[in-house]
Amino acid sequence: MQAATLPEQLQSKCYCPSCGKLLVSARCLDPWAISLVCLGSHRFFVMPETPLAWQTAMAASLPLPHLDSWAPQDVASFWLADPTVRPMLNEQLAQLLRTILEARQVSDNPNFSFCPLCGGPLAEYEQPDIWVRGLRCLNGHSWAERGGCIYCKIDGVLFRLHAEDPDKTTSQLIAAWLKRHPHLDTNLHESVRRVLLSSRFCPADSADR
Ligand SMILES: [Zn+2]
Ligand SMILES: [Zn+2]
Repeated sequence: MQAATLPEQLQSKCYCPSCGKLLVSARCLDPWAISLVCLGSHRFFVMPETPLAWQTAMAASLPLPHLDSWAPQDVASFWLADPTVRPMLNEQLAQLLRTILEARQVSDNPNFSFCPLCGGPLAEYEQPDIWVRGLRCLNGHSWAERGGCIYCKIDGVLFRLHAEDPDKTTSQLIAAWLKRHPHLDTNLHESVRRVLLSSRFCPADSADR
Protein backbone atom coordinates (compact mmCIF):
# COMPACT_ATOMS: atom_id res chain seq x y z
CA MET A 1 0.00 0.00 0.00
CA GLN A 2 1.21 3.49 -0.90
CA ALA A 3 0.77 6.55 1.30
CA ALA A 4 -1.12 9.54 -0.13
CA THR A 5 0.89 12.01 -2.19
CA LEU A 6 0.25 15.53 -3.40
CA PRO A 7 0.51 16.19 -7.15
CA GLU A 8 3.69 18.10 -7.99
CA GLN A 9 1.72 21.23 -8.86
CA LEU A 10 0.29 21.35 -5.33
CA GLN A 11 3.45 20.49 -3.41
CA SER A 12 4.81 24.04 -3.27
CA LYS A 13 1.45 25.83 -3.06
CA CYS A 14 -2.05 24.58 -2.37
CA TYR A 15 -4.90 26.98 -1.62
CA CYS A 16 -7.75 26.48 0.82
CA PRO A 17 -11.03 25.92 -1.10
CA SER A 18 -12.94 27.67 1.71
CA CYS A 19 -11.00 30.91 2.17
CA GLY A 20 -8.27 30.99 -0.49
CA LYS A 21 -5.40 31.18 2.03
CA LEU A 22 -2.48 28.77 1.74
CA LEU A 23 -2.91 25.22 3.01
CA VAL A 24 0.06 23.71 4.84
CA SER A 25 0.72 20.17 6.11
CA ALA A 26 -0.52 19.35 9.59
CA ARG A 27 -0.19 16.40 11.92
CA CYS A 28 -2.48 13.57 10.87
CA LEU A 29 -3.41 10.53 12.98
CA ASP A 30 -3.89 8.50 9.81
CA PRO A 31 -0.25 7.80 8.87
CA TRP A 32 -1.19 6.99 5.24
CA ALA A 33 -3.16 10.20 4.66
CA ILE A 34 -2.09 13.84 4.29
CA SER A 35 -3.70 16.52 6.42
CA LEU A 36 -3.70 20.13 5.23
CA VAL A 37 -4.81 23.16 7.22
CA CYS A 38 -5.04 26.92 6.50
CA LEU A 39 -4.65 29.91 8.82
CA GLY A 40 -8.45 29.98 9.12
CA SER A 41 -8.35 26.41 10.54
CA HIS A 42 -10.13 24.86 7.55
CA ARG A 43 -8.89 21.31 7.39
CA PHE A 44 -8.65 19.02 4.36
CA PHE A 45 -7.34 15.53 3.71
CA VAL A 46 -5.81 13.57 0.91
CA MET A 47 -6.51 9.87 1.31
CA PRO A 48 -4.26 7.06 0.05
CA GLU A 49 -5.45 4.98 -2.90
CA THR A 50 -8.93 3.55 -2.24
CA PRO A 51 -8.67 -0.12 -1.25
CA LEU A 52 -10.32 -2.68 -3.52
CA ALA A 53 -13.83 -3.87 -2.60
CA TRP A 54 -12.84 -7.55 -2.48
CA GLN A 55 -10.07 -6.70 -0.01
CA THR A 56 -12.25 -4.63 2.34
CA ALA A 57 -14.91 -7.40 2.19
CA MET A 58 -12.43 -9.68 4.02
CA ALA A 59 -11.99 -7.34 6.99
CA ALA A 60 -14.77 -8.75 9.20
CA SER A 61 -13.42 -12.30 9.02
CA LEU A 62 -9.83 -11.44 10.00
CA PRO A 63 -8.84 -13.31 13.18
CA LEU A 64 -7.51 -10.58 15.50
CA PRO A 65 -8.36 -11.87 19.00
CA HIS A 66 -5.56 -9.83 20.64
CA LEU A 67 -7.59 -6.65 19.95
CA ASP A 68 -10.37 -7.76 22.32
CA SER A 69 -8.54 -6.43 25.35
CA TRP A 70 -7.31 -3.20 23.71
CA ALA A 71 -8.73 0.26 24.38
CA PRO A 72 -10.82 1.65 21.47
CA GLN A 73 -8.21 4.32 20.68
CA ASP A 74 -5.46 1.71 20.38
CA VAL A 75 -7.68 -0.43 18.15
CA ALA A 76 -8.36 2.60 15.91
CA SER A 77 -4.63 3.44 15.68
CA PHE A 78 -3.79 -0.19 14.89
CA TRP A 79 -6.28 -0.42 12.00
CA LEU A 80 -5.12 2.93 10.58
CA ALA A 81 -1.39 2.26 10.81
CA ASP A 82 -0.70 -1.46 10.45
CA PRO A 83 0.40 -2.24 6.86
CA THR A 84 -1.08 -5.76 6.92
CA VAL A 85 -4.64 -4.80 7.91
CA ARG A 86 -4.86 -1.27 6.46
CA PRO A 87 -5.35 -2.40 2.83
CA MET A 88 -8.52 -4.16 4.09
CA LEU A 89 -9.91 -1.10 5.88
CA ASN A 90 -12.81 0.50 4.00
CA GLU A 91 -11.97 4.13 3.11
CA GLN A 92 -15.00 5.58 4.88
CA LEU A 93 -14.17 3.57 8.02
CA ALA A 94 -10.59 4.89 7.85
CA GLN A 95 -11.93 8.44 7.77
CA LEU A 96 -14.26 7.70 10.70
CA LEU A 97 -11.46 6.14 12.80
CA ARG A 98 -9.23 9.16 12.17
CA THR A 99 -12.07 11.55 13.00
CA ILE A 100 -12.74 9.66 16.26
CA LEU A 101 -9.04 9.72 17.21
CA GLU A 102 -8.54 13.39 16.37
CA ALA A 103 -11.75 14.29 18.27
CA ARG A 104 -12.21 17.74 16.76
CA GLN A 105 -15.49 19.63 16.70
CA VAL A 106 -16.65 20.52 13.21
CA SER A 107 -19.96 22.33 12.92
CA ASP A 108 -20.40 23.06 9.22
CA ASN A 109 -19.77 21.79 5.74
CA PRO A 110 -17.01 23.79 4.06
CA ASN A 111 -17.54 26.20 1.19
CA PHE A 112 -15.79 25.30 -2.01
CA SER A 113 -15.18 28.83 -3.26
CA PHE A 114 -11.48 28.94 -4.28
CA CYS A 115 -9.36 26.87 -6.64
CA PRO A 116 -6.78 24.73 -4.76
CA LEU A 117 -4.38 25.04 -7.72
CA CYS A 118 -4.29 28.84 -8.17
CA GLY A 119 -6.38 30.34 -5.34
CA GLY A 120 -8.72 32.04 -7.85
CA PRO A 121 -12.46 32.19 -7.18
CA LEU A 122 -14.47 29.18 -8.35
CA ALA A 123 -17.75 29.57 -10.22
CA GLU A 124 -20.29 26.90 -10.98
CA TYR A 125 -20.56 25.75 -14.60
CA GLU A 126 -22.84 23.42 -16.55
CA GLN A 127 -21.46 19.94 -17.04
CA PRO A 128 -23.14 16.61 -17.91
CA ASP A 129 -22.72 14.70 -14.60
CA ILE A 130 -25.87 15.34 -12.52
CA TRP A 131 -24.30 13.80 -9.39
CA VAL A 132 -21.64 16.47 -8.96
CA ARG A 133 -21.37 20.26 -8.96
CA GLY A 134 -18.96 21.52 -11.60
CA LEU A 135 -16.66 24.34 -10.45
CA ARG A 136 -14.15 26.24 -12.54
CA CYS A 137 -11.70 29.12 -12.00
CA LEU A 138 -10.68 31.83 -14.49
CA ASN A 139 -7.47 29.89 -15.21
CA GLY A 140 -9.57 27.01 -16.57
CA HIS A 141 -8.97 24.56 -13.70
CA SER A 142 -12.12 22.39 -13.58
CA TRP A 143 -13.21 20.69 -10.37
CA ALA A 144 -16.15 18.52 -9.38
CA GLU A 145 -17.65 18.68 -5.92
CA ARG A 146 -19.66 15.98 -4.21
CA GLY A 147 -20.29 15.13 -0.59
CA GLY A 148 -17.58 17.24 1.05
CA CYS A 149 -14.96 16.30 -1.51
CA ILE A 150 -13.54 18.29 -4.43
CA TYR A 151 -11.71 16.50 -7.21
CA CYS A 152 -9.89 17.16 -10.44
CA LYS A 153 -7.66 15.32 -12.93
CA ILE A 154 -4.10 16.63 -12.56
CA ASP A 155 -1.56 15.30 -15.07
CA GLY A 156 -3.98 12.48 -15.90
CA VAL A 157 -4.36 11.34 -12.28
CA LEU A 158 -7.52 11.87 -10.24
CA PHE A 159 -6.79 14.06 -7.22
CA ARG A 160 -9.34 14.24 -4.37
CA LEU A 161 -9.32 16.76 -1.56
CA HIS A 162 -11.66 15.78 1.29
CA ALA A 163 -13.03 18.27 3.79
CA GLU A 164 -13.38 17.30 7.43
CA ASP A 165 -16.96 16.04 7.89
CA PRO A 166 -19.19 18.02 10.26
CA ASP A 167 -20.02 16.13 13.49
CA LYS A 168 -23.61 15.59 12.31
CA THR A 169 -22.40 13.76 9.17
CA THR A 170 -19.95 11.65 11.22
CA SER A 171 -22.83 10.56 13.50
CA GLN A 172 -25.02 9.68 10.51
CA LEU A 173 -22.25 7.61 8.92
CA ILE A 174 -21.60 5.74 12.17
CA ALA A 175 -25.34 4.99 12.54
CA ALA A 176 -25.40 3.57 8.99
CA TRP A 177 -22.39 1.31 9.70
CA LEU A 178 -23.98 0.00 12.90
CA LYS A 179 -27.26 -1.02 11.23
CA ARG A 180 -26.02 -4.56 10.57
CA HIS A 181 -26.44 -4.31 6.84
CA PRO A 182 -25.10 -7.57 5.29
CA HIS A 183 -23.21 -5.71 2.56
CA LEU A 184 -21.46 -3.35 4.98
CA ASP A 185 -20.91 -5.94 7.69
CA THR A 186 -18.29 -7.85 5.66
CA ASN A 187 -16.20 -4.65 5.88
CA LEU A 188 -16.75 -4.08 9.59
CA HIS A 189 -14.52 -6.03 11.95
CA GLU A 190 -15.97 -6.51 15.43
CA SER A 191 -13.09 -4.49 16.92
CA VAL A 192 -13.87 -1.54 14.62
CA ARG A 193 -17.57 -1.80 15.50
CA ARG A 194 -16.51 -1.44 19.14
CA VAL A 195 -14.56 1.75 18.31
CA LEU A 196 -17.62 3.24 16.54
CA LEU A 197 -19.91 2.29 19.44
CA SER A 198 -17.64 3.83 22.06
CA SER A 199 -17.15 7.16 20.26
CA ARG A 200 -18.86 10.36 21.32
CA PHE A 201 -20.22 10.64 17.76
CA CYS A 202 -22.26 7.43 18.10
CA PRO A 203 -26.00 8.29 18.23
CA ALA A 204 -27.73 7.00 21.39
CA ASP A 205 -30.24 4.83 19.49
CA SER A 206 -27.39 3.12 17.60
CA ALA A 207 -25.49 2.41 20.81
CA ASP A 208 -28.53 0.53 22.18
CA ARG A 209 -28.58 -2.04 19.41
ZN1 LIG B 1 -9.24 28.27 4.80
ZN1 LIG C 1 -7.38 27.57 -10.67
